[in-house]
Amino acid sequence: MYKCSVCGLVHWGEEPFEKCPKCGTNRENFKKLDEAEEALIQNSRITNELHMGLFEKLREVEEICEAGSEINLDPGCYKIFNELLDIVYEKQQEILAEISGHVNKGKWN
Ligand SMILES: [Zn+2]
Repeated sequence: MYKCSVCGLVHWGEEPFEKCPKCGTNRENFKKLDEAEEALIQNSRITNELHMGLFEKLREVEEICEAGSEINLDPGCYKIFNELLDIVYEKQQEILAEISGHVNKGKWN
């Protein structure tokens, strides 16, 4: 893996780019990452994919809860659907914040 020291773009390959496709800087500005840096980026990518998978599942839960709370059969059902909706919204926000945190810290590109 090579990382552009100007814009932070990470390139997977044997050789760095001639010019960075993102910022246009020359090959000399690409730095070869060591194993620990590569592992961090790979683990961040995997974790972000897991977060996105969770986010999609939470969307399904959200739809179910919205349908259930709209029907509002009785107070017990309504309570379950609504409490779960609150949790789902909160976790979705946390997931998005976590992913954007990884991107901003340069763990992931
Ligand atoms: Zn660049």
